[in-house]
Amino acid sequence: MTGRALVIGGSLGGLIAAHLLRSIGWDALVFERNDEELASRGVGLGTHPQLIGVLQRAGIAFDESMGIAPTRAVCLDGDGRIIVERPMTRTLSGWSRLYRALLDALPAGGCRLGKRLVHVDQDAAGATGHFADGTSERGDLLVGADGIRSTVRAQFLPDVEPRYAGYVAWRASLDEADVPADLWRELADLYAFCLPKGEQLVSYVVPGRDNDTAVGRRAYNIVWYRPVDRDTLTDICTDAKGRHHAAGIPPPLIRPDVIARIKADARALIAPQVAEIFARTAPFFQPIYDLASPRIVFGRVILAGDAAFVARPHAGAGTTKAALDAACLADSIREARGDLDRGLERYQRTQLPFGRALVEFNRAEGAYLSAQLKPEAERTAEELHRDAGAVLNAHVDRSDQIGAMVTAHGLDIHVHSP
Ligand SMILES: Cc1cc2nc3c(=O)[nH]c(=O)nc-3n(C[C@H](O)[C@H](O)[C@H](O)COP(=O)(O)OP(=O)(O)OC[C@H]3O[C@@H](n4cnc5c(N)ncnc54)[C@H](O)[C@@H]3O)c2cc1C
Repeated sequence: MTGRALVIGGSLGGLIAAHLLRSIGWDALVFERNDEELASRGVGLGTHPQLIGVLQRAGIAFDESMGIAPTRAVCLDGDGRIIVERPMTRTLSGWSRLYRALLDALPAGGCRLGKRLVHVDQDAAGATGHFADGTSERGDLLVGADGIRSTVRAQFLPDVEPRYAGYVAWRASLDEADVPADLWRELADLYAFCLPKGEQLVSYVVPGRDNDTAVGRRAYNIVWYRPVDRDTLTDICTDAKGRHHAAGIPPPLIRPDVIARIKADARALIAPQVAEIFARTAPFFQPIYDLASPRIVFGRVILAGDAAFVARPHAGAGTTKAALDAACLADSIREARGDLDRGLERYQRTQLPFGRALVEFNRAEGAYLSAQLKPEAERTAEELHRDAGAVLNAHVDRSDQIGAMVTAHGLDIHVHSP
């Protein structure tokens, strides 16, 4: 069977879904609420072999220009000395590097901007998406790839909401040209952790502006997890005019006093090499959430990517999971040979337990950070003490861990075009 799919959300999850549906002969159109392309989200993105495989299947060649591969994972102490070290191979890319490649490879008109979905109607044969501009589109299938605050999920699962994990990720990046040369030389080949008590920071080199991986044009990327209680979260999500941004404060609105405080904390708590770079950035933060949907198929409407499950970012597998959702959806539809409802059932049967497992896996990885808000007397031994070697080992083995999860859930994705 071939059909018409409406994909809501034009970020990585939606674009990959559109490509893979097109690869099985469907007409897949993407509808994105923003009226400009999203290419400016300049942050690093960890990859896994499964993501690279799905991208290749979508026709995106993942060569060395797509990412940067450090060869050593290290933990730096507060004085900047290496206290633990492990060999590692992992390719770090950039969100916008993947976005650009996926968007450019869609046919003209394949991604429609300025289209905010407000409501979905459906019957046994298909679904109709209604948009804020008053237009409607009909498809055999509607894919909700509209992220953590999904409009599609809110309609079909109104009680399912993201749960705050008790900590935020401060994120920062600096162009290679702005990093002092001696620091760049020291850090460039490292996947570098700093583990102040109760916190976790990881930093590494990523493609720079214009997605460049050439020497001199790369960027340094920092992700710093910090426990933040609800009152403090409310405070730091409040802008200088006193307006509270419950769904996340846009980076330019973070108050100068909040930025000054995080930079002072960086000087006091993290390795001086990394603090020096952090001081030169314009950092922003994202609260960390867990979200698990009890269902992801509702007749001819389905959820994928972060709309369905949000795993904490420790395994760096959110985009990999969105790619696996897309691959499973395309495979399930193709293998159902014309029985779309049967294909969608298979999609749910496979991706529901996989999504749950990924959320649980990452929840366990972040348990130490979440526990910091509890009184010390109530914390377990693991919540009180953390071993730097174990943290490094977990990250060095990421691809094996995600690979094992994929195998355990029978996610036999076809890497190349079926
Ligand atoms: C700190 C942090 C670090 C991370 N690091 C990594 C990493 O290293 N590796 C990795 O793989 N993942 C990482 N992730 C996760 C990753 O960003 C996502 O899991 C992944 O990109 C999948 O996103 P998505 O396309 O499903 O949703 P999103 O990227 O949230 O996109 C949803 C899209 O839908 C649009 N939209 C929303 N509502 C509507 C509507 N009503 N109508 C039309 N459009 C709408 C939005 O504008 C947006 O473009 C990280 C996340 C965080 C928070």
